[in-house]
Amino acid sequence: MNQTLTLALSKGRIFDETLPLLEAAGIHVTEDPEKSRKLILPTSDPQLRVVIVRASDVPTYVQYGAADFGVAGKDVLLEHGGEGLYQPVDLQIAKCRMSVAVQAGFDYASAVRQGARLRVATKYVQVAREHFAAKGVHVDLIKLYGSMELGPLVGLSDAIVDLVSTGSTLRANHLVEVEQIMEISSRLVVNQAALKLKREKLQPIIDAFAKASLREK
Ligand code: ATP
Ligand code: MG
Repeated sequence: MNQTLTLALSKGRIFDETLPLLEAAGIHVTEDPEKSRKLILPTSDPQLRVVIVRASDVPTYVQYGAADFGVAGKDVLLEHGGEGLYQPVDLQIAKCRMSVAVQAGFDYASAVRQGARLRVATKYVQVAREHFAAKGVHVDLIKLYGSMELGPLVGLSDAIVDLVSTGSTLRANHLVEVEQIMEISSRLVVNQAALKLKREKLQPIIDAFAKASLREK
């Protein structure tokens, strides 16, 4: 059986924060995706390569087996649905929270209390839909792909659902966090067939990641 592995990562924080986990598994990535235009990066292990994809595409590559495993945020996994994916380890990296934010001065509490229909702009429509449904709040969801903070400023929406870490982006745009929906971190995701067929090669890496991620907590 071919035990060559492909790991899907996104550029930026996921790549940067996965590097130490790979190091813990004795694997070095020999090229920097910020400097190279290559989408396939070799590693010190001739049987392991890294593919660089959009953060929200990681579950898709792994689901279809184009990558055997990958690292994806809980936010991305909830939107994707997690179909065909085994999620053995919460890696405790790329931590942030999913929150509701509104323009400073907007009375969110009364809007919600009065049963008004709230217009919510977000990239995370599944999470937002479930959150407001559970609260019994009627919402019109407006799907965006980025720069959610702009929504309330230009009258596109009353509120946004977005990821927050320090809150500095919200503050810079005169928005306030009015509700925290959930804590977010990144998970290791593994193709279910690969886990069976390439277990010998995969399991030691999964174990090393799990052990190293305990230190992140
Ligand atoms: P793209 O840039 O392709 O649209 P993205 O903005 O989701 O995708 P990143 O900013 O690299 O890509 O985020 C990757 C993951 O890191 C997210 O899915 C989320 O889980 C987590 N994340 C996002 N923003 C933050 C943040 N400010 N602090 C910590 N973790 C974050
Ligand atoms: Mg981002």
